[in-house]
Amino acid sequence: MDARERYLLHVCCAPCSPHPLQTLQKQYDVTLYFHNPNIHPELEYQSRLGEVRRMAALEGLPLIVDEYRPDEWLAGAAPWKDEPEKGRRCEFCIDGRLDAAARQAAALGIGRFGAVLSTSSRKDVNMIGRLGKKAAARHDLLFDAADWKKREGAKISVRISGQLGYRRQDYCGCIFSKRDADARRTTRPA
Ligand code: SF4
Repeated sequence: MDARERYLLHVCCAPCSPHPLQTLQKQYDVTLYFHNPNIHPELEYQSRLGEVRRMAALEGLPLIVDEYRPDEWLAGAAPWKDEPEKGRRCEFCIDGRLDAAARQAAALGIGRFGAVLSTSSRKDVNMIGRLGKKAAARHDLLFDAADWKKREGAKISVRISGQLGYRRQDYCGCIFSKRDADARRTTRPA
């Protein structure tokens, strides 16, 4: 039997991943990649990483964890700290993470990569596709611009995450999205 094609999957958290994983594993040998210097604070980073490690063990998949350098990320994102989600700060953030994934895939000799980021309705799927394709072109790879929330994908991920007990979070990841989520919570009518 021919060896299956390898696929590097950038994961931001476990709860966004079940539907992409279920789909991709039918066709590819998947390697998980965790590079999320945006996540704040470090305790939250460790918690999300812990759940991704648990998921990798449950699925029997290799997981590559990149160095956590939040100060560098924060310095780069600071000019856009007051941008809304899906704006220029997210463009900087997603671009960096997808470029790192492309570099990692190229270093491993994996020709195709993707990301579970599009599971979230708070992300701009067109932005993800555009940035992923740019990163792929820089490294001579293919980027899979799937919209993982489509065809009930988000619901499937929520259902499986519930069954597996993956911890869910209520903000995207960075200090600014936490600030905005905290503000939404305090202004919500009782
Ligand atoms: S809101 Fe999410 S995608 Fe946007 S900059 Fe913050 S962590 Fe990154």
